[in-house]
Amino acid sequence: MANLSESWSTQQLVEFLGLISALPDEHSAILRAVERAAEALEAEVGAIVREGRVLACTGFPAHEEPTETLVAAAEGQVLTIEVPGAAQCAVISVPLEDGGSGRLVLARSGGEPFSSQEANLLRGMARVLTLALQGLRVLGDERALRERSEQQSRENARLLTTLRERQALLERLSKIQRSIVKRAKLSDVLDAIAAGACELLKLDSVGLRLIDPQDEEWTVLIASRGLDAVRFPVGSRAPINEGAGGRAAAQQRLVVAQREGADLESIEGLKRRSLQSAIAAPVLENGRVVGALAAGSRDPERTYSAPEREVFLALAEHASLALTDAKNYEEALHRSFHDMLTGLPNRALFLDRLDNAVRRATRTGSTPAVLFLDLDGFKRVNDSRGHAAGDRLLVAVADRLRECLRPGDTVARFGGDEFAMLLEGIGHPSEAKNVAERVMAAVQAPFGIQDQDLEVSVSIGVATMRDSSDDLVLNADLAMYQAKSRGRGECELFDPGMHAALVERLLLETDLARAVERREFELVYQPIVELESGSVAAVEALVRWRHPERGLLLPMAFIPTAEETGVICEIGHQVLELACSQGAAWQRRHPAEAPLAIAVNLSVTQLQRPELVDDVARVLDASGLDPASLILEVTETLLVQDLERGALARLKKLGVQVAVDDFGTGYSSLQYLRHFPIDILKIDKSFVDGIARPGEAALAQAILDVGGSLNLRVIAEGLEDAEQVAKLTALGCRWGQGYHYARPEPADEVDARLSSSGVVGWPPVTRSDDRARTAARRKPQRRRGRSTSTHRR
Ligand code: C2E
Ligand code: MG
Ligand code: MG
Repeated sequence: MANLSESWSTQQLVEFLGLISALPDEHSAILRAVERAAEALEAEVGAIVREGRVLACTGFPAHEEPTETLVAAAEGQVLTIEVPGAAQCAVISVPLEDGGSGRLVLARSGGEPFSSQEANLLRGMARVLTLALQGLRVLGDERALRERSEQQSRENARLLTTLRERQALLERLSKIQRSIVKRAKLSDVLDAIAAGACELLKLDSVGLRLIDPQDEEWTVLIASRGLDAVRFPVGSRAPINEGAGGRAAAQQRLVVAQREGADLESIEGLKRRSLQSAIAAPVLENGRVVGALAAGSRDPERTYSAPEREVFLALAEHASLALTDAKNYEEALHRSFHDMLTGLPNRALFLDRLDNAVRRATRTGSTPAVLFLDLDGFKRVNDSRGHAAGDRLLVAVADRLRECLRPGDTVARFGGDEFAMLLEGIGHPSEAKNVAERVMAAVQAPFGIQDQDLEVSVSIGVATMRDSSDDLVLNADLAMYQAKSRGRGECELFDPGMHAALVERLLLETDLARAVERREFELVYQPIVELESGSVAAVEALVRWRHPERGLLLPMAFIPTAEETGVICEIGHQVLELACSQGAAWQRRHPAEAPLAIAVNLSVTQLQRPELVDDVARVLDASGLDPASLILEVTETLLVQDLERGALARLKKLGVQVAVDDFGTGYSSLQYLRHFPIDILKIDKSFVDGIARPGEAALAQAILDVGGSLNLRVIAEGLEDAEQVAKLTALGCRWGQGYHYARPEPADEVDARLSSSGVVGWPPVTRSDDRARTAARRKPQRRRGRSTSTHRR
């Protein structure tokens, strides 16, 4: 029986092991084991108890098991327990033998205690359960481990993808950045951005649109990927408010239109592009919205995660960066090739265009021409009306010049009041000259500047191409220079002879600089005499240049150039020193009641230098000459400007006398004379030349009258014969100068003359009685006749 029951139980135990090992986890295994054990021993209650807790139980409704009773039963404290519906039940408890305190407990009704066979079977079951549980635990651990490692590798794979994506994004962005830095073509950069968005975010279509600067209601497609090239070619236009891009631009924010998103339904144009979702970000240029980067997908499930939005924004920002950089670069480029004031091309751009035109000309045979323009008297506008008016005038002139241009021609401002025009395809030089004449006429019309009409003229030099080595700008400049020398508003065609003139002039300039350093200037002196007596009243110092190779040069050969280069000031200083010390020496050798005066010519340039007055004072001081004995001769053209009037007034304060030279040739109205601090008028030779002829004395007479009424001394210049002297004397002129009396001569010759003719001198100021005395002397003069001719050289 024992054997039988043992073999029976062995079979049961094998089944039991198979049953619970098949269960997926420990908990269900325990529960099933308890049920099976209770079944096998026909017990009403089964439980597993460990450390005061019931791990599994059968025979009671769920969660209603009597824990305390079961724990007591497991620990062998009670042999029977009360079970509802089964009265007193006998209890059996066997250890689980798993090294812990767990026990398997059964309770069976009927009052019969469990047999030792049943106890053995139960112990066997407990062992089997322990074994199965161990197996399940190992399996569970393994499964958990496997799960963890699977999860880990899933996580790794995800990280790897993110890393790859990030890497791809970084590579993309840095490639775009590099192309921006390298100033790749803007369209290529924007194209790369569209391509980047399309590939990185796996989108169906991407478009970059910029607002049309001509019409801000529209945008223009600049770059795209995946768009239907027939319906949406690059360059195609769309209304500003269309699509997600339109909204992104208008609201200056990232717009995401996706499934169930608020933006989806409200955005027009998505359907038109067969899109189910879209993302768009504004594109800026120097902080101002100029368009949008927009993209979309045909997949209705497509949504845009936070990292994807970041990527998209980064791409849009790169488009902004590229546009801003291109704009700033373009502006900087424009600034470096244009004149800021007038907006015209500058010299650099002009020369570049000329270069191209010349190269084209050698290929096609159509020759270019250059007009070099210089405004006449612009400095005067600037000085008298202020720089603001000067600037306005330049801008207005630039506008007129632009209007004179034919398409393809260029007008540039070279600086100051210099402009240049490049005319292409000129058949004959006369064509260029015609354009120049048109330009002169256009500039001639008055300009309304600051509520006043301003008139200017322009001098133009024209040069056309003879061969490709011609320096057209230099030639036109030379021709302009020539035009200027002919007066205002003239135009001159370049002639190769002008080069020789330029070389000559440059040589003269270097020679002059050297001459100043080596003091190569000397003076000759021409007496100013009292017509009646031939006595010398004053001596005019006239400069000569003893050129080491060219011999003695007259002022006409070098004074104009010296004035232009400014070297006249140094020459003038040397002249003043020589003349004053010579004057002082003569005064010592030929003392007179009224001492001999010495006249020195001043040029405009000298008068414009503020240091002139101090210079004259110093020279007078050093020579010991009385300031009253120095006459400074200035030309009439000076008298119109306030600046020079101030300088003259300060010179007068030193005590010197001021003479207006060549009077009558300038433009000054007689009215001016009243306001200028002057003492002497010198009638220009041109009014003296024909004076002896009938009817030609009127102008000389007028000058004498003005001089008389203003109490000025009047000297007639260029007296060459006795008739002139007689006529002037008759008109009441008392003083004169000319070859009839003496040519300009070296100091020693003048010295001899002073000894023979005597010095009459000029009393300092005798204005009020000067004319009266002249009138009084007229009679005896006529009676005595003229003896002065004997002093002629
Ligand atoms: P200017 O001051 O009117 O001087 C008179 C010029 O007429 C002198 O010429 C003189 O030689 C000339 N002349 C005098 N009498 C007669 C005459 O009867 N017939 C003719 N045909 N000519 C006569 P020059 O010495 O050649 O001087 C020319 C001009 O050069 C001067 O005209 C003056 O404006 C300027 N110049 C001379 N020396 C100086 C100087 O030291 N400084 C400056 N800034 N200019 C000077
Ligand atoms: Mg003079
Ligand atoms: Mg003169």
